[in-house]
Amino acid sequence: MARIELESVTKTFGGTQVIHGLDLAIEEGEFCVFVGPSGCGKSTLLRMIAGLEDISGGEIRIDGDRVNEDPAVERQLAMVFQSYALYPHMSVEQNMSFALRRTGTPKAEAREKVRRAAETLQLTEYLDRKPGQLSGGQRQRVAIGRAIVREPRAFLFDEPLSNLDAELRVQMRFEIAKLHQQLSATMIYVTHDQVEAMTLADKIVVLRKGRIEQVGPPARLYGDPDNLFVAGFIGSPQ
Ligand code: ADP
Ligand code: MG
Repeated sequence: MARIELESVTKTFGGTQVIHGLDLAIEEGEFCVFVGPSGCGKSTLLRMIAGLEDISGGEIRIDGDRVNEDPAVERQLAMVFQSYALYPHMSVEQNMSFALRRTGTPKAEAREKVRRAAETLQLTEYLDRKPGQLSGGQRQRVAIGRAIVREPRAFLFDEPLSNLDAELRVQMRFEIAKLHQQLSATMIYVTHDQVEAMTLADKIVVLRKGRIEQVGPPARLYGDPDNLFVAGFIGSPQ
């Protein structure tokens, strides 16, 4: 599992700077949560780490290697999106093994990886179904399963639960926490939900307008916020 470092990372879209020289280190096995209001740059930052978006300046290192020029595949990070983006015509098993087929993993090995991931995610009895025959929570689990089988160096989540209803959100939150314990994986998790941030994070990064307001463990941000913005964002439900 990976250590991820950002140094003076910037992003400019058509002349507008949206990420302003950001420094951050995410430790191996850490559950790091990015929070902040809509438009503050959470997704952009995650996409740059994932290699889905170029950086305009600075440097990103994974386990010490500069990956600025590496495409997403080379970085070996797996991204889980809020819209699950499953292939509707493929079964759950095929959806999960698809990425492995592209990398040339032998069939038997792919099947075994899918079997193990399905077990972890309680999807074993749904492997033959199509996404349309699943609930929202099950579909989200398949999306996570697709990431697990690739055995990535880190998992990146962009508001993975925001399409789910409140009850399911709570349940999936517990499952993601459990998954983190089981895999001891480095995870970066984007949300605008304070409760998700407080309950899941080892470390919270509070963002505002493309800048870091504060970084620290949940209890520190809650008990000892650096400023009113952090206090307001972490302290009061919105
Ligand atoms: P968040 O995920 O925190 O809601 P985003 O990272 O999506 O925020 O967006 C940060 C800022 O960058 C916003 O002002 C947004 O409008 C802008 N932005 C994001 N993607 C693009 C893009 N592809 N082209 C131009 N502007 C973008
Ligand atoms: Mg976003």
